[in-house]
Amino acid sequence: MAEKVLVAGGGGFIGGHLVASLLKDGHEVRSVDFKPLNHWYQVHQGAENVQADLRHLESCHDAVRRVSRVFNLAADMGGMGFIENNKAACMLSVLINTHLLEASRLVGVERFLFASSACVYNASYQRSPDVTALKEGDAYPADPEDGYGWEKLFSERMCRHFTEDFGLLTYSPRFHNVYGPHGTYDGGREKAPAAISRKVAHCYLTGSDEIEIWGDGEQTRSFMFIDDCVRGVRELIESDFHDPVNLGSAQLVSINQLVSLTEEIAGVKLKRNYNLNAPQGVRGRNSDNSVFRSVFGWEPSISLEHGMSSTYAWVLDQLRSTRH
Ligand code: NAD
Repeated sequence: MAEKVLVAGGGGFIGGHLVASLLKDGHEVRSVDFKPLNHWYQVHQGAENVQADLRHLESCHDAVRRVSRVFNLAADMGGMGFIENNKAACMLSVLINTHLLEASRLVGVERFLFASSACVYNASYQRSPDVTALKEGDAYPADPEDGYGWEKLFSERMCRHFTEDFGLLTYSPRFHNVYGPHGTYDGGREKAPAAISRKVAHCYLTGSDEIEIWGDGEQTRSFMFIDDCVRGVRELIESDFHDPVNLGSAQLVSINQLVSLTEEIAGVKLKRNYNLNAPQGVRGRNSDNSVFRSVFGWEPSISLEHGMSSTYAWVLDQLRSTRH
């Protein structure tokens, strides 16, 4: 059935892809972001596109008008380089989720999804590259990523209590490194797949044969392609599952392996300069998908080869057009 849906943060990476998917299935979409429209990664003509700052309660009241579902993807965020150096800014995103929840409750929104993160997990479980995949319960006792992770953990908790106390159906997927085309790839907020694609593409275009890698490259992560993420959030919000749940790939790779794959895609071989003083985050992190699999019967599995090929091709195009 077609619904009227709010995508908060619709000018961002995940938001832009989600709006496209919702429109394709005939939903009426209001997409809200505080960036000017010409800075949105994707502007979909079929949606109602609004520029507003959702830290303010008034803007949230306007955003949720006549809406039955809210996807809250709006947050001040970025890769490790950004979140390690902007902890207060990251925590101020609590205003967005709190005001959106309150406005949604007052107007009778039925379902509300909050984009949480693997950064909620206790740091002591992530000290080794061959990390044991994180289960949902590993968020407690709480010792999340400072700043950004605390905001996500607190906001998950707010969602839980809005469900228990007010009956607003809430959902909190914990995303593990989402990547793909139409997102940030330079400027300081980009994450590893986009940053590595940019560095390799730059070498490909200029003939340079050296790249900088943050850390020793042996830190590990899993990376979920955007199409799996969009499918996951859309299924989750229509479900009866209200506890926080991992939404990520379970394919663990090191940053060095990700670089090798990108070199292969680009057809280059580069000398790696390791910057051991750069921000690196936790040493290892992977997603245990047993809960998600048991509820939904599938898990994110689009291959890194496919996802990185499409991400690299898009970043290369962007670099080519800016060089022109
Ligand atoms: P993004 O930065 O591309 O999108 C977030 C959008 O929110 C941006 O367009 C930004 O302008 C907007 N925004 C920020 N403050 C706002 C405000 N006050 N009012 C209105 N809009 C505002 O990031 P993304 O990768 O699309 O992430 C979406 C959500 O998923 C975020 O909540 C993020 O924390 C979460 N998440 C993402 C990842 C990932 O790997 N991309 C991992 C974990 C969690």
